[in-house]
Amino acid sequence: MILVKDLISSYTKEERQFHVNLTEPCIERGGSSTQHKGVLAQFLNTDIPSGRNLLCHACNNGKCSNPNHLYWGTDKENLEDAKLAGTWSSCWNRTVKKYGLEAAIERQRRGNKAAGGRAGKGRKQPEAQKQKTAETLRNKTLVKIKMVEASQIDFQKCGWIDKVAELLQIQPQKVKAWMKHHMVTFYNEKCFE
Ligand SMILES: [Zn+2]
Repeated sequence: MILVKDLISSYTKEERQFHVNLTEPCIERGGSSTQHKGVLAQFLNTDIPSGRNLLCHACNNGKCSNPNHLYWGTDKENLEDAKLAGTWSSCWNRTVKKYGLEAAIERQRRGNKAAGGRAGKGRKQPEAQKQKTAETLRNKTLVKIKMVEASQIDFQKCGWIDKVAELLQIQPQKVKAWMKHHMVTFYNEKCFE
């Protein structure tokens, strides 16, 4: 079995297309190009590559799985093929085609949440809201500090970390950091490294 990465590093694109015969018609069996990879791998006795080594369509028909129209190439070659054939379109062009120009501009402006854009970010939280959030957090912490102070946990005994973790409902490995941050004097007095 031949490894596609060796094939690509040792042979030119033309050499890798030795079997290509575009006088044959395309064969559209359905399936995705990921599945078509299996067809070509079987046909050329290669492994099934991943990453930047791709299944390229010499016929520029992405639905085609005729092995005589497929070859192993790089993402760069694939792009060149598509540009030559005029089937290449930029991400922006595809968005315009799919949603229309106006909607495409709107999508770009607000960022596409699904694509990990910056939707919702950068929106300013009103000052009053910010203060309220901070106060809520402070109060919650105060309650927790009081809970630890009032607890009957013996800080000189093994297992106090687990007990505090249970009390505060946090991970045991976060207990010491929490104690240091919120209960400095208490921690220094009662807890020993
Ligand atoms: Zn084809």
